[in-house]
Amino acid sequence: AGAALKQAKSFQRGKALYFEPVIAAAARDRMHMLSRLRESFSADRLFLHYQPLVDLRDGRIVGAESLLRWRTEDGTFIPPDRFIPLAEQSGLMVAIGEWVMRTALKWRAGLKGTVDERFRVAINVSHVQFSEPDFVAGVLRMLAETGVAGYQMEIELTESVAAENTSRIVDKLGELRAQGISVAMDDFGTGYSSLSILQRLRLDRLKIDRSFISDGNDTHEPFGITRTIIKLAAQLRLHTIAEGIESEEQRQALLDAGCEEGQGYLFARPLAEEDFGRLLADAVDGRFRHR
Ligand code: C2E
Ligand code: MG
Ligand code: MG
Ligand code: MG
Repeated sequence: AGAALKQAKSFQRGKALYFEPVIAAAARDRMHMLSRLRESFSADRLFLHYQPLVDLRDGRIVGAESLLRWRTEDGTFIPPDRFIPLAEQSGLMVAIGEWVMRTALKWRAGLKGTVDERFRVAINVSHVQFSEPDFVAGVLRMLAETGVAGYQMEIELTESVAAENTSRIVDKLGELRAQGISVAMDDFGTGYSSLSILQRLRLDRLKIDRSFISDGNDTHEPFGITRTIIKLAAQLRLHTIAEGIESEEQRQALLDAGCEEGQGYLFARPLAEEDFGRLLADAVDGRFRHR
């Protein structure tokens, strides 16, 4: 075995010489990005966009999802899919997540009187944040601080929360829901949570991942998976919302399949606060104008 190992090593020596610097460079880039993210966060240069959540039947704006944005000092936009995993691995996500929640709730508080009372702000919560022992206490404190009611807020979790002990998740969700906070499973269909967990979790809503909605999805039967998810949701007595709706055909097909709500470029992109305000001011009766 020793000889074989030696041989393998000498075999790989040429490669190692090549790959090690590449890996080291990638690690250095990540460290660099993380330290820039830390700087930007403490310099208050992260901000939120808000994308309308829409009732597919009548175009009513029922809420908004808050989406984290980072523009670096030199003006480069870095998408959340790139920096959030870094923040999660480094522990920075807990602080950022708390900032996101407080900011989004303050924004919701400021909308009072301009939107329906039931307008909800949906906030993405990382599994790292959710698994903190004082997560629920933090949420309740921020609600009290901002004067937002539980039913005016929704938490979006991904299937990666399932890494935590199931009964602990069930307890936390129970405490949140006791306050009227609704809970959605985000990117549904892309993870690997079992149906039995799904049943135990007692969620409010399944959020169907964009990959099942958009035109890029060319399965044999268009919308086949989407329809199945919507049926499953009905079976479990969960509401559904579809992300990534870009065309009127998609909206109609989702509506026909029984999906209640959606979001996507068809209605609006994620918007800066001021632009969201303008959109609300333009909306007739809380609905998108006829296009
Ligand atoms: P997500 O929660 O699934 O958010 C939906 C994503 O779909 C957003 O990407 C949104 O801009 C995009 N989107 C919405 N409608 C359309 C459409 O019609 N077409 C296309 N092509 N895209 C559409 P974004 O803003 O880049 O965010 C990516 C992901 O980053 C989010 O996916 C979420 O997982 C994560 N994220 C964003 N903000 C936060 C945050 O504050 N906390 C945490 N933990 N994660 C966040
Ligand atoms: Mg989301
Ligand atoms: Mg999503
Ligand atoms: Mg998604």
